[in-house]
Amino acid sequence: MNFEADRWSFRRQLSTNQVPQWMTDALAALLARHPNDRLEIVSRESPDVADDTPVWRVRCRDCPGKQYIPGPGETLLNFQVHLKNRQHRRRVKTRLAGLARRL
Ligand SMILES: [Zn+2]
Repeated sequence: MNFEADRWSFRRQLSTNQVPQWMTDALAALLARHPNDRLEIVSRESPDVADDTPVWRVRCRDCPGKQYIPGPGETLLNFQVHLKNRQHRRRVKTRLAGLARRL
């Protein structure tokens, strides 16, 4: 019976699509260090219908189509590489320059 209850709450947890706490924390830490970068965590529907586990991705809002799998472990190191990417830095710079002109 306990097993069934656990199973139910586990499924409910999945259906709420809650971003894991460590991921929210890691993103906040990353944003604190890179205040000019615009990042967000998105969930991607699994292509496998039987598997409804949310698949998390870190997305860069400056670089359309750039999505990174979080990790390794409970970090966003996979994504941090992107923040040093030359094309990414140029996009951020262009956006900031655009904002400055409008002010
Ligand atoms: Zn980027």
